[in-house]
Amino acid sequence: MSETACVFCKIVEGEIPAERIAETDEVLVISDINPQAPHHYLAFPKQHIEVFSKVPGVARSLFECIEAAVKKRDLESLGGFRIVMNLGKAAGQEVEHIHFHLLAGRPFQWPPG
Ligand code: AMP
Repeated sequence: MSETACVFCKIVEGEIPAERIAETDEVLVISDINPQAPHHYLAFPKQHIEVFSKVPGVARSLFECIEAAVKKRDLESLGGFRIVMNLGKAAGQEVEHIHFHLLAGRPFQWPPG
């Protein structure tokens, strides 16, 4: 997927609207358009990264921004939350711009489907 066709890159550029929950120079956290829980946010680097090997380079920034979203939405008061990254089609990945899902507000099953 090219950067110009990437929905998350378009959100970063403001070409597609999104509810911005937290943001740094490097990372954006938005509300998922199709929420799978009462709270469902997506945290992704503003840089278009597709491959897992580049995740370590942005991991600290991603988790700092996720922490800001957790605090802003007081997710720790909800009894638990889940952070998930789908990588590859078999894992259910649809958008080829790496991102963490942050889900909260309902019980979650294990193992995930
Ligand atoms: P994944 O299947 O792990 O690649 O997750 C992609 C996520 O992006 C899905 O949960 C979608 O609902 C979400 N998504 C797709 N387009 C948008 C959008 N324009 N704004 C917010 N979330 C989106």
